[in-house]
Amino acid sequence: MNRSNFRYWLQPKRSLLLVVIATLAMPAPASIHGADATATHIAPIRAERFSADGVTFRSDFPGAKVSSYAHLKTGEFELTIRPENTPINNSAWYAFQVTSERARAIAVRLSYENGTHRYHPQVSRDGRKWTRLDDDAIQRTKDKRGAILQLNVGTDPLWVAGQEMIDRGYLEAWMAGLADLPFVKKSVIGRSIEDRPIHGLQITESDDPGHVVIIGRQHPPEVTGSLGLMAFVDRLVEADGMAAEFRKEFQVTLVPLVNPDGVDRGYWRHNVKGVDLNRDWGSFAQPETRAVRDRVLPLHRPPDHRIYLWLDFHSTHQDVFYTQPDETETFPPLFTRQWLDAFDHRTPGYSVRRVNSLGGKQQTSMQWAHRTFGAASITYEFGDNTDRAEIRQVTRIAAEEMMRLLVPVRQREKAATHRSDENTRKPDAAARDGIRTGDR
Ligand SMILES: [Zn+2]
Repeated sequence: MNRSNFRYWLQPKRSLLLVVIATLAMPAPASIHGADATATHIAPIRAERFSADGVTFRSDFPGAKVSSYAHLKTGEFELTIRPENTPINNSAWYAFQVTSERARAIAVRLSYENGTHRYHPQVSRDGRKWTRLDDDAIQRTKDKRGAILQLNVGTDPLWVAGQEMIDRGYLEAWMAGLADLPFVKKSVIGRSIEDRPIHGLQITESDDPGHVVIIGRQHPPEVTGSLGLMAFVDRLVEADGMAAEFRKEFQVTLVPLVNPDGVDRGYWRHNVKGVDLNRDWGSFAQPETRAVRDRVLPLHRPPDHRIYLWLDFHSTHQDVFYTQPDETETFPPLFTRQWLDAFDHRTPGYSVRRVNSLGGKQQTSMQWAHRTFGAASITYEFGDNTDRAEIRQVTRIAAEEMMRLLVPVRQREKAATHRSDENTRKPDAAARDGIRTGDR
């Protein structure tokens, strides 16, 4: 969508059309509900060596996902990829390593059960630096459900994955770097079903802050959501005056990895109970969502300490903000509209897409945050294939425009609270000073 369409979407008179479009564009509804769901725990395949070809595949590292391997003929292999349970969204994640006893080209067919090929392969020689596999080296299968990759392999491992692997180790290293900053505190706010830590970070230079909450990676394969989240937060911790002033007015509570089990296991969408965590914000049947809820609920003590903004980072087929409609009351009023307008003005050539979210009863984090705090709440989605440098550039700008808008709102709120404090304190102070304030 181009810039003019963005403005068009914001016109209130077009709301009926907006509703129709929003319905079509919304992610698939909740498919899994608490106790009915059982994830299929297929033991991970550690390694499979095809001795006739001297080729070995591995999927025994965190984040790996291949369900079975088959040798089709010399130099040709089939990798079958199954989701953790069904029904499930088509976030058909895969990740594996391959080596060969001699340098050669091989053909690898990716076959999906309960899904189709979605993620263009990224490859790496060291598991850290990733590049997009050349278009020439990939073709879709005739039925369009799978893909065939041409890979150059040798004795050094080649990593192949649906996206560059921003795995738990990567995110934890990034969090540790943040925690070195004097105004960042890191703690374990809870544990996943498989007892992995869920980390929370607190970023502030105020002892009397307003609050912004940022969470991510409820859905394991959504790597571009993590890239966006990291770029956004990295801007908030910079040393310049804008960021410093923001930290003097606000605390950011950050949970970058809500679903560590799913990320480690290479899941497509769910936690190990087979539950979509972003449909659990209501029943709170899962420890991962409960951990975040219990961390953020005490922050909100209106009128002086509110949650002003809730951001939940995700990935989908394009960059899009799922928002509350402007007609919905939020605090701060019309923040979303002002923010996205300001963001749009500063990013000529970049499409700022906004889709109003319907279904206030949906058990997403965004709907819960709005229901519970009245906060501006947004699901911030990045496209699977959005250029990575563009993600960093535009997300920094989004962070700057957020700071620019929120700081004066907080300052006004504090001034108003202070005034009302003085009004209520006066009689006490007068009594303490022994001044008669009664009838004369
Ligand atoms: Zn998602």
